[in-house]
Amino acid sequence: MYIPTIGLEIHAELKTKTKMFCSCKNVPDEEQPNVNVCPICLGHPGTLPVINREAVKLMVKIGLALQGTIADYSQFDRKSYFYPDLPKGYQISQYEHPIVEKGFLRDTRITRIHLEEDAGRLSHADDRSLVDFNRAGLPLMELVTEPDIHNAEEAVSFARGLQEILRYLGASDADMEKGQMRIEANISIAPEGAGKLGTKVEVKNINSFKAVHDAIEFEIGRQSKLLDEGKKVVQETRGWDDMRNVTVSQRIKEEANDYRYFPEPDLPPMNLLSGPDTFDLKKIKSEIPELPDEKRNRFGVEYGLGKDIVETLVAEKELADWFEEAASELKEKTEKSDVQLLANYLTSDLKGLMKTRSVSIDEIKIKPEHLAHLVFLIQNGKLTSRLAKGMLAKMFETGDDPESLAKSEGMETLSDEGELQKIVGEVIAKNEKSVADYKKGKQNALQFLVGQVMAKTKGKAEPGLTKKILEAELNR
Ligand SMILES: [Zn+2]
Repeated sequence: MYIPTIGLEIHAELKTKTKMFCSCKNVPDEEQPNVNVCPICLGHPGTLPVINREAVKLMVKIGLALQGTIADYSQFDRKSYFYPDLPKGYQISQYEHPIVEKGFLRDTRITRIHLEEDAGRLSHADDRSLVDFNRAGLPLMELVTEPDIHNAEEAVSFARGLQEILRYLGASDADMEKGQMRIEANISIAPEGAGKLGTKVEVKNINSFKAVHDAIEFEIGRQSKLLDEGKKVVQETRGWDDMRNVTVSQRIKEEANDYRYFPEPDLPPMNLLSGPDTFDLKKIKSEIPELPDEKRNRFGVEYGLGKDIVETLVAEKELADWFEEAASELKEKTEKSDVQLLANYLTSDLKGLMKTRSVSIDEIKIKPEHLAHLVFLIQNGKLTSRLAKGMLAKMFETGDDPESLAKSEGMETLSDEGELQKIVGEVIAKNEKSVADYKKGKQNALQFLVGQVMAKTKGKAEPGLTKKILEAELNR
């Protein structure tokens, strides 16, 4: 029996207006290569970097949200290594004095979070390699955890939790597919009761949560097999191969001193809590919104919603906010508001419509009060669920309120008692057998007759009223 020990190193690109040390634009989606570049981020000799204060502030915010300690003294260091997408021949990073120390998320302790600059992007085609420096110099945070994680599920939970928090803070879009969030896992295994950790293997190139899970499972299996056979695990860096679902050896791990870290001579050290660079921690803390895990708990308690629906709502801050706005609109209309029904329409029907059109909640025409209004009509039997779905689709197209749509689209509910009475009379006359069944006490027969009225009115008859009139007629 082996005990796995896992630590994570997670990079995320920060969402600032400009790059980390120059005034080039930070546009991760830029498709034209090498347009957001200047002599500073291209590493021309004689140029000088300037610290982007917005990026440092985001780091402070992230640190506070993760219960970390903000360092008073922090500095940048040079990390020397050569790579074709790193034009200076070194990366400006932080070594001994990161901005954030300690902190935790979901039972995993965080060692540190530091700020550095991203490298460019290489693409290889046939006999040549191309380099795009748009990404070079973007502010990049690196978070390192303690080796507190013991299986793939915990690792995924940590990474997901971090992604949500970064998005809630507006600090990063953290889209793994776009490389805005990148994960490395340090994995070792040791026999139970060994008293010390095994040899650490670092796995890179992990580009999805599924890959985090699969790469860790694979490594645990590979290392266990080696130990079972009496062989040794080599300390090395391995890459995750998404196609073959295996890790492959890349290189024997460098030691920190191979990078020749030294304080960046072109940048002044920072005093974050005192002196001219000071940050008002109280103020930054007040800008942190309710975080996802807190929101999860509150949604369960306050609205009595099930776990899956809460999960869908909270995964996206904008969706959660939209839901709360609609729920409060519904509460204003009626004391007995059916928030569950509202959440259902939002997370299934409306979300389905958004998905087919590939639009986000910020882009849709429907307003929260309109969905609240729709649910209010359903709750009061003024609108059948069959009509409601069609109505929602129309609302999605036009952005109109359900009431005005009902009028203009002829989707108005039939609630004229006289007219309903006439239709009920016709249905009763045509369905002698069901009427007889009902009189014998068969409740199903009543449902059948309601259905007949619905069919005759193309689903427009107001359900509550229809049932009332039918019962009155049948019991005469
Ligand atoms: Zn630049």
